[in-house]
Amino acid sequence: MVTVVKIGGSILKDEKDLELIVHRVRDYAEADRLIVVVSAVKNVTNELIEAVENRDKSIEIVNNVYDKYVRLLSKVSERKKFENAFKEISKMADEMLKITWSVRVIDEVTPRIRDYILSFGERMSTVLVTASLWSAGLEAIPQIEPLIITDESYGEANVIPSLTEQEIKKISESHQKLIVTPGFIGRTVNGRFTTLGRGGSDYSATLVGRFSGAREVRLITEVPGIMTGDPKRFRGAKTIDSLSLIEAVELAQLGAKRLHPRTFEPLFEADMKVIIEGLYDEGSTKIVTQCDPSPPIKGIAVLENLSEITVESIRMVGKIGAAAAIMGEAQRAKVNLVSISQPASETTIHLFVERSSKDRLVEKLKELQGSLIKSVESKDVMAVSAVGCGLSRPEVFRRVLKIVGGYDVKSLSRGLSDVSVTFITDREEGYRLAEELHEVIVKWTS
Ligand code: ASP
Ligand code: MG
Repeated sequence: MVTVVKIGGSILKDEKDLELIVHRVRDYAEADRLIVVVSAVKNVTNELIEAVENRDKSIEIVNNVYDKYVRLLSKVSERKKFENAFKEISKMADEMLKITWSVRVIDEVTPRIRDYILSFGERMSTVLVTASLWSAGLEAIPQIEPLIITDESYGEANVIPSLTEQEIKKISESHQKLIVTPGFIGRTVNGRFTTLGRGGSDYSATLVGRFSGAREVRLITEVPGIMTGDPKRFRGAKTIDSLSLIEAVELAQLGAKRLHPRTFEPLFEADMKVIIEGLYDEGSTKIVTQCDPSPPIKGIAVLENLSEITVESIRMVGKIGAAAAIMGEAQRAKVNLVSISQPASETTIHLFVERSSKDRLVEKLKELQGSLIKSVESKDVMAVSAVGCGLSRPEVFRRVLKIVGGYDVKSLSRGLSDVSVTFITDREEGYRLAEELHEVIVKWTS
């Protein structure tokens, strides 16, 4: 049987991490054939983005990335014995430097070139992790060329399932015992590198799991699984032992441990388990198909940096297309709408967006002032969400509403199959509400 193990970037920073990773992989490799999906070393993707954007510093940044890998590689393996790995990394570094120079000279970067530059992080990690496994006596095979075939939507590429399946089948039928391959990146049919969106290596791992017929996908990370709340914020926060697929989808988007939104998508089409586990501390969360309604609420999440944009006008009342016109402005300003609400009187529309994108949208909406809308106002808010399949039961939902009744809540919306509910509040109120809700969960689970 095949197991997929994903090594997150947050646990790829020094030789101690690599040692722990090798131990973990060895444990799993004894029982199964493994495909190890790797992320870029901690912060490398951010640094490469900085290199693309800040051209004065790009060469220095890219050289630092190269140094990081060479330093780590020398710590886990002797240069002589691992000449190939060193050669491979320096060949990639040459390529990376050349392309960074061209971007700097031309002073322009296309989405395709951007993905090409980002691909070096995960590709170099593949060489690094393979070498670490070799030096511990594990015969890993590097598969540097991405197995995931995508379209040409650079930056957020879409997977082509039939072609990806063919690629992964070839590899899984080769019966290699231990393969290491990059997460986050894909390639087009013409062999151009693409990326699946930030944090995409979790998604790569579940895709590889689906197409290799894996029984299990283990996402190894710095935190011991998905927790009831952010342990930095909530007293008594603990690991959730098991979550249903829908709960996981909701929490992945909202929770302290952010996962790529599409991470769990392949699970709807494959019978496999996903386990999120810590590298440093014991603890893991199993994602299962069936929902266990006890405890009825599994976790509390907060989104702190939101803004509410309120659009008012009686001209919108009963007017077909009014909401579409307003949402259209968000699309034109390239602003993601985190939440939306409108009273039945239709006199107002509230849009909730990331604070960093508020000004862009407000500016666009002001262009509609005087025609469709009368006023546009904005203020800072936050979102508090509770997630758990028990929320679809009226008695649980009522209990939550009773608590919420003590706070000034601006809007309420329910998520997928009613397994989540999100409240928008002022910042002060939001933290207190989140804490009170979290205390209820802790009581339920202890
Ligand atoms: N290295 C990529 C990122 O930082 C992908 C990942 O870590 O999942 O977004
Ligand atoms: Mg990562």
